[in-house]
Amino acid sequence: MAAVTRLSTRASFVSSIANRYLSSDLTSHAPLRLVPTRGEDQKNTHVRWVFLGCPGVGKGTYASRLSNLLGVPHIATGDLVREELASSGPLSSQLSEIVNKGQLVSDEIIINLLSKRLLAGEAKGALGFILDGFPRTIKQAEILEGVTDIDLVINLRLQEDVLLEKCIGRRICNQCGGNFNVASIDIKAENGSPGIVMAPLLPPVNCMSKLITRSDDTELVVKERLRIYNELSRPVEEFYRNRGKLLEFNLPGGIPESWPKLLHALNLDDYEDKHSAAA
Ligand SMILES: [Zn+2]
Repeated sequence: MAAVTRLSTRASFVSSIANRYLSSDLTSHAPLRLVPTRGEDQKNTHVRWVFLGCPGVGKGTYASRLSNLLGVPHIATGDLVREELASSGPLSSQLSEIVNKGQLVSDEIIINLLSKRLLAGEAKGALGFILDGFPRTIKQAEILEGVTDIDLVINLRLQEDVLLEKCIGRRICNQCGGNFNVASIDIKAENGSPGIVMAPLLPPVNCMSKLITRSDDTELVVKERLRIYNELSRPVEEFYRNRGKLLEFNLPGGIPESWPKLLHALNLDDYEDKHSAAA
């Protein structure tokens, strides 16, 4: 594998151009805070977070909202892959075959795309990131440890039948690129487990006739993705649990129910109040 550049963990987020295999030095790093302090200049925020969770659980949605709230880039490896696919670059035909079968893209490809993106963000002065869709395997988690330090890993959880229904309900507008979901989930509480209500996320009227389903959102492909997730990615939860970095979050429903509870779990409810008041 190509040498991977390790990104600095210091407040300035300056690159230290060191090979990852040389990175186990004794350099002392400033202690990292999980959450920026109220009233603090965003330039001093340290957010290096990872979102874990089954495909379709909503990692992208929550990662994107948090990145807007905290002012750090949301880096989705799925988007990195799709950008590469659309670029008709040297990797695109190889990638399209892998993606259409619902298989995982190789570590080498993902790490190359991700390192490129982290360095580009750093060059533009980004002061942290929220990763979504990476790491997916223990091996990737180990490689990521050599590339940068992660402060917190948020594991989003939702029962599998709901996940499946949500994935099959995904739609994209082929004109504006908007993401929508036609699944309407209403599971009654039983045997002590709480019910789950998730309203569909319907498009505006002018997008309605332009909705398409991505070729990898069929039931077969989604089930295959879940099987692969359980086999390869479940152990990643344990990896971060052992390092004391895993925050488990059971989604109580759709975004209106889940978002405030997630902010509370992250100790950010004041943060949002402050920002909405300032807006
Ligand atoms: Zn549209």
